[in-house]
Amino acid sequence: MAQKAMVFIDGSWLYKSRTALFQRSDKDGAFEIDYAKIPRLLCDNVARVSGSPVDCVRTLYFGTIPSMRSGYNTSKQYSFYDFLEKSCGYETEIHEVDVSNNAAIDDTWVKMSLGASMLFYAGHPAAFDIAIILADDLDYTPVLRRVRLFGKRVQVVGLHLPDGSVPSRGQSLFHKSRINDFPPVFLDDYLADLRLVRSSKVRVCKQCGAEEQTTWAGVDFFCSSCRGRYRSV
Ligand SMILES: [Zn+2]
Repeated sequence: MAQKAMVFIDGSWLYKSRTALFQRSDKDGAFEIDYAKIPRLLCDNVARVSGSPVDCVRTLYFGTIPSMRSGYNTSKQYSFYDFLEKSCGYETEIHEVDVSNNAAIDDTWVKMSLGASMLFYAGHPAAFDIAIILADDLDYTPVLRRVRLFGKRVQVVGLHLPDGSVPSRGQSLFHKSRINDFPPVFLDDYLADLRLVRSSKVRVCKQCGAEEQTTWAGVDFFCSSCRGRYRSV
C-alpha cells in the first residue's frame, strides 16, 4: 500500500530561498519556480529512496502578509496565495502581520502554525505517514522529534550554502539526531525540474471578455486594462 506524505511549506523560508535559487540558476535572471511541481517532485524522491510508492495527500503552505503598511498594496500577494490554492493544489494558511510601526515581519507565526498543524495531523493515525518539511531551520527540532514519536517519518528539505557546501552542524537540521529518516534533500539540486516553463497563449478576460496574449497560468485571467482599473481603485 502506498505511504501517505504531507508536505509542509514554511513560506518565509521558501521566500528567502528563492533568492538563492535565482542566483544558482543560469545568469539571465529569468528563473521562476513552478510551485505546482514542488510536492510531486519531493514525494517522488521519497518514494525512490524508500523503495515504496508515496501518495502526496496534502500540501500546506504557511505565510504572512504585511497589513497596515501605508502605500503597500497587498493585492499582488493575495493573488499569489490564491494561485497556490487554485492552480497548485496547496492549502494556505496566511496571517496578516501588523507592521504599522515599520517593524520587520517576523516569522514566529509561520513556525508556530506549521508546527501546530504538523503535530495535529500526526495525532490522527490515518492522516499521513511521512512529513516533508520545506525549511531547514533548527527551530523545528522539537516538533519534528515529537512527530516522530507518533511513528511518522520525516524528510527535511533544505539548501546548500552559497558556495555549494552542506550547511555545518549548528546551522542545519541535517546533522540533528532523531529527525532525519531520509537522506537530505537540497532544493537547489532540482533547479532544472522546478523551472517554470511559461507558454504564451490567448486568454479571455473574466471581466470584459477581451482576448489577450498572456503567459499568466492562474485560474482567472484579467486583461491589462482591467488589471489597470483594478489597481487604481
Ligand atoms: Zn478586461
